[in-house]
Order: sequence, then C-alpha cells, then structure tokens
Amino acid sequence: MASSTAIQCTACGQESWVLREPLYEGFTKVGETFVCAACGHVYASEDDVPYVVSRGPALFTEADRTPAPAVFAEDEQKRLCRYCRHYVVNPFTQWCGVHKREVEATDTCDQFSLREGAERSD
Ligand SMILES: [Zn+2]
Repeated sequence: MASSTAIQCTACGQESWVLREPLYEGFTKVGETFVCAACGHVYASEDDVPYVVSRGPALFTEADRTPAPAVFAEDEQKRLCRYCRHYVVNPFTQWCGVHKREVEATDTCDQFSLREGAERSD
C-alpha cells in the first residue's frame, strides 16, 4: 500500500492527489475507486494510480538536526543567587539568607533554591 496519495495525473498531467472513494455494488462495498482531485479522472484500480514516488532521501539527516538545547548551561544560570529564594536585595546590600552574608547577584551556591516565579530578565 502506498504511503503517499500524491500523484502525477496521467489524464490532466498535473501534480495532484488521489481521492479514494468506496465503490458499492448495491449495498456491498466491492472496492475503491481512485479519483484525481484535480480533474476527476477515475483510475480503474490502484495499480493504475500514478503515485508520485518519494523524492529521494529525506532532506534532513541526523547530522543536520539542531543540536539539543544547552540545558546544562541553562541550569547553571538558574542557580545564580539572583534567582534564589534566599537572595535579599535592599538599598545597601545583596544578602544571602542562608549564609548570612553579602552576595553578588551572579554568585552561585549549593543551597540554591529557585524563587517562585523567578524569571530570567536578561
Ligand atoms: Zn488529473
């Protein structure tokens, strides 16, 4: 069975597709008809349908795929103090509530805990 319904119609010469329609004899389905969607030409059997054969190998190979996003780097960035729930900013200092010391927004630490709703703003 063909995987594609694309055809190069022998009647109208167009690239089209085939419409499968059940063929009834009385109330019994006796087969299918294959109709060109462009011109309505009916093919007697599926063997007569000029299916367009797959155009060679797929355009994209494994090597062409977009590299997986750098999830690790992203994680590292998310561990910055500025995204941590323990990070406190006031007009005088940036403060880590866990280590009870001054921190920089770009510091990282093992006690990092992502603040609810923290979004990277840059
Ligand atoms: Zn046609």
